[in-house]
Amino acid sequence: MTRMLAGIAELLETPRNVLRETIIRSISATIVEAPTLRRHRLSNTEVTHQGYVLVRVLLDNGVTGIGEASTLGGPRWAEESVESISAAIVNYLAPVLRGGSAMAFEANAIRMGKAATRNFAAKGAIESALVDAVGKTLGLPASALLGGAVRQRVGVIWALASGDSGQELEEAREKLRRREHRDFKIKFGFDRPPNDLKRLETLRRGLGDDVRLIVDINQGWSEAECIRFIPALEELDVALVEQPVPALQLEAMARVAARTSIPLLIDEAAFTKEEIARSAAMGCGSVYSLKLVKSGGLFEMKRAAGVAAAHGLELYGGCLLESSIGAAAHLAAFSTMPKLEWGTEHFGPRILVDDLVTETLRFEEFEICIPEGPGLGVQLDEDKIRSFARKD
Ligand SMILES: [Mg+2]
Repeated sequence: MTRMLAGIAELLETPRNVLRETIIRSISATIVEAPTLRRHRLSNTEVTHQGYVLVRVLLDNGVTGIGEASTLGGPRWAEESVESISAAIVNYLAPVLRGGSAMAFEANAIRMGKAATRNFAAKGAIESALVDAVGKTLGLPASALLGGAVRQRVGVIWALASGDSGQELEEAREKLRRREHRDFKIKFGFDRPPNDLKRLETLRRGLGDDVRLIVDINQGWSEAECIRFIPALEELDVALVEQPVPALQLEAMARVAARTSIPLLIDEAAFTKEEIARSAAMGCGSVYSLKLVKSGGLFEMKRAAGVAAAHGLELYGGCLLESSIGAAAHLAAFSTMPKLEWGTEHFGPRILVDDLVTETLRFEEFEICIPEGPGLGVQLDEDKIRSFARKD
């Protein structure tokens, strides 16, 4: 009897124990530079190494959670760089979280919001690490903490971004042959529009009519160039045009959207919920690209999806060439969304010479599989982190 009462008392104590055990002891940031298999070009930058900040959160129970902030060619795609992300984490975000419970996700997000405006990549990496650590503590996948998965696999897009149509054709054919990808995103804007169009024509002719082609202009065209050249994209049966004009030119983007039969994908134009609501209400596009680097956290990315959906936008699971760590965090959230009409482009693990985890994410039958283990479901490869970590 006494033993049973002690057992009940212990059970009642469990939530409090878990809260105590998940106290955040330390948060560290490591800058990592991982080589890519080929040059990856965008309208305003190109990379041969991917810059990440690896976040490690250590809890009082000894569990370490990991998260990743991704950048693209320094502070170009967005304002944050690996150096600024690391500095924001060490100097402003970690100090307000240390000593509190990792499980208090929303309270932690509020604390980070008060400590730093925007800095979304830094905040997103920390929250991913907190979710990973709590998931590992409880033996639950991150998706369970985010509402529960409604899908275990997501259709996955590959990006063609070397700028050399011969190489790109070969790369796409190899992806089709391996049954890994049949939807391709072509990066535009680093060459003159007529040359980019010639490249696209070669790809369409070479790959046939069955593959889905998406064009990402990364803010590279003016409204006038859109008026002149988007009809050619219509001719080539492009399924989606991503962020054709500069992010702040919402009126121009809305006019471009109204003229074309191709849906526009809103990316750099909207980071926050308010920006999503405004761009959607103005008619800037009909699909929204979800990214941790824009939302600043997994829970906030789910809210972003809700705001976008409420405005009639379809959803696209965006990426910034994350390794399996960042991809797993995104996929955990994507797996819980009622709708994800365009699937995801989390091909990042496959563009790296070496992934940062012991077991890279699986790609099968044109889909990416969402890892099922506790937390993010991926294990850090410490040897690779050591070899790719920036040496000061
Ligand atoms: Mg984009």
